[in-house]
Amino acid sequence: MDLVFRARRVITPQGEIAADVGVVDGRIVAVEPFIESPNVVHLADDEVLLPGLVDTHVHVNDPGRTEWEGFETATRAAAAGGVTTIIDMPLNSIPPTVEVAALEIKRKAAANVSVDVGFWGGIIPGNLADLKPLHEAGVFGFKCFLLHSGVDEFPAVTKAELEAALRELATLDALTIVHAEDAHTVRESEPDYPGFLASRPREAENRAIADVVELTRKTGARTHILHLSSSDALHIIEGAHRDRLPVTAETCPHYLTFTAEEIHDGQTEFKCCPPIREAENREALWQGLREGVIELVVSDHSPSTVELKAGDFATAWGGIASLQLGLPAVWTGARSRGFHLTDVVRWMATHPARQVGLESKGAIEVGKDADLVVFAPDQKFVVDKNALHHRNPVTPYHGRELHGVVRQTWLRGKEISTTHGKLLRRGEA
Ligand SMILES: [Zn+2]
Repeated sequence: MDLVFRARRVITPQGEIAADVGVVDGRIVAVEPFIESPNVVHLADDEVLLPGLVDTHVHVNDPGRTEWEGFETATRAAAAGGVTTIIDMPLNSIPPTVEVAALEIKRKAAANVSVDVGFWGGIIPGNLADLKPLHEAGVFGFKCFLLHSGVDEFPAVTKAELEAALRELATLDALTIVHAEDAHTVRESEPDYPGFLASRPREAENRAIADVVELTRKTGARTHILHLSSSDALHIIEGAHRDRLPVTAETCPHYLTFTAEEIHDGQTEFKCCPPIREAENREALWQGLREGVIELVVSDHSPSTVELKAGDFATAWGGIASLQLGLPAVWTGARSRGFHLTDVVRWMATHPARQVGLESKGAIEVGKDADLVVFAPDQKFVVDKNALHHRNPVTPYHGRELHGVVRQTWLRGKEISTTHGKLLRRGEA
């Protein structure tokens, strides 16, 4: 063995066990009671060994809007937060990842990364012919919007355009991920939070999700609902599961942590689309996780500059920065509701890896990459936005007390201290 992790608490697909985790050439080769090795990493009594998280929803914004984030800062933040793999969204970078040439530009921009990085492609009006080449070039699937995306170079598709794309992608068995808010239901926002919330009602999500389910049924393509906020749509997704349609859903740490009632005017660090809703909605989302209707929790890390994030709720950038904080935020909410770390690992590592076909990621078991996190679940800390690795110090978690400290992050058997992440292609990892 090159290395052995010895822990009283190891989170495996079979549950929590005491074990030694043996590593050779960056892969897990044994999970057993006792392994002889000269190199043993002893976990302390208050530490748990988790698989590295897989965050399939990250906006790195590089190249083109590198002042918003960037591959070096984003992947450093990911590593510090226990995330060992990210899949980068196709928009907010310039150019957006809607053709192979743009993907190659992005791969060059991601020369120095601390964690493993994969890429989503994008569906926009007119790029139907680019989807197959992007798929073959190794993107993990395709994102589209059903309403204005927030940036003009990544336009939304109509329902008819989405249907055409799904027919094409069904032939490739490629995954389509959808920002599901209905363009005809969303209105202009008012400057205050109640006005912003009312402008993007649950009905906008419910309608768009019903459309995605209908098109999934029609085309047979695999689809995924991004950042679910409206708990009213849970029964639509549940119905799709009952009908055995290939539809999955994710939600995000902020929808599970914050409530509309606590957001005051001017606190635009809380602005995201779809919006954070009422306390009762938040509890229904936790229930959706409990019942398995929602299978993934991913960050939707979508930062901007401090200037663009300021102002009022009508004008500020809509996106929340939380890549480094997703694990403690979700664990804090989960533990207070009686969930176990095995649940958090399933939502944030195992299911996201499975979703994008990363067979070597997402669990502590023989054959997987030795992507490992030493986590102290009972240690508390207060979030200081200035101490995070995100490029811009804006986050709604600032000043909040969270449970769970990431003490070490290991990528393929090496503790992350330098940039030795690699770029991933669908089907190869
Ligand atoms: Zn997003």
